[in-house]
Amino acid sequence: MKKHNFSAGPCILPQSVLQKASEAVINFNGLDLSLVEISHRSKDFVEVMETATSLALELLGLENKGYKALFLHGGASLEFLMVAYNLLENKAAYLNTGTWADKAIKEAKLFGELIEVGSSKESNFNYIPKGYSIPTDADYFHCTSNNTIFGTQMQEFPETSVPLVCDMSSDIFSRVLDFSKFDLIYAGAQKNMGPAGTTLVVVKEEILGKVSRTIPSMLDYKVHISKDSMFNTPAVFPVYVSMLTLQWLKDLGGIAEIEKVNNAKADLLYSEIDRNPLFNGFVSNKVDRSKMNATFNLVDSAHQEKFDSLWKNAGVNGLNGHRSVGGYRASMYNALSLESVQVLVNVMQELERNS
Ligand SMILES: *Cc1c(COP(=O)(O)O)cnc(C)c1O
Repeated sequence: MKKHNFSAGPCILPQSVLQKASEAVINFNGLDLSLVEISHRSKDFVEVMETATSLALELLGLENKGYKALFLHGGASLEFLMVAYNLLENKAAYLNTGTWADKAIKEAKLFGELIEVGSSKESNFNYIPKGYSIPTDADYFHCTSNNTIFGTQMQEFPETSVPLVCDMSSDIFSRVLDFSKFDLIYAGAQKNMGPAGTTLVVVKEEILGKVSRTIPSMLDYKVHISKDSMFNTPAVFPVYVSMLTLQWLKDLGGIAEIEKVNNAKADLLYSEIDRNPLFNGFVSNKVDRSKMNATFNLVDSAHQEKFDSLWKNAGVNGLNGHRSVGGYRASMYNALSLESVQVLVNVMQELERNS
């Protein structure tokens, strides 16, 4: 039986998507060829890329609003650099909410002045800073919507007069937002959309072309837009699987429907963390809790061995916390079912009864 996969990334994908993907690896579209051995310029693959980009825009409600969707290489980590390369002329404002935000800041510093408008670094990123102000002369403001490692999530985004850039790697397509507030969104596929190897970038075209530097072709969003994400060979398999996942989400009823399930999963697990005297949540301010990655600890580490063997025996996978936080992290991405969360909650209750 398939495990209850709480892995933080690469993450769980819908079983039906994995089934279709495995079939396409052997025989794609009845071509008697594998998806991974045909030309990316063939009609069959061009259709995959077009469907994937248009599904992404459709699900986000960003069709016909001046946005382009791209599937690029290099992970979200390359976007830390590309965003600054393409947008940073003088100075940029960043909100430092975790390891990934910190890394984005480090890369952007190579290109100009950097204003850290808020940071929770001093308390190991266990809350989201609020009440910060964004300089009106910044080239853009960058934030991270969900902090995968620490289990915090932004519930509100500032009104900005400057372009709003967001790393949504670990919560894209998980909740309804007014995505038109954002000028550039990026997300590594492997948290909530597909296998590792491709990155979704959704960018409002009008913010591009404003820096004076020369941008190398592979790092230039305008080049990728002009070539429909085919400037070089795209990651055909990750793009295809992402397309299948987006199709799965659309068939379910889109983001609004999956958000209901995600809310139910998060409510179930956080209620247990709060109720069960053996556990503590990591995030200091409950409103900042992530619905994608729940971080928690045992109050008494003497229970660790017992708890670890209980959840492993129940078929739970990927529950260990990140090394910079410790404890446990339950990642509840779109494809994880409410039943899987119930299995984890049962194990937590069993630990309580047996201790
Ligand atoms: C995982 C993650 C990244 C890094 O993604 P890569 O694709 O491995 O470069 C960046 N930001 C966030 C929020 C993440 O969760």
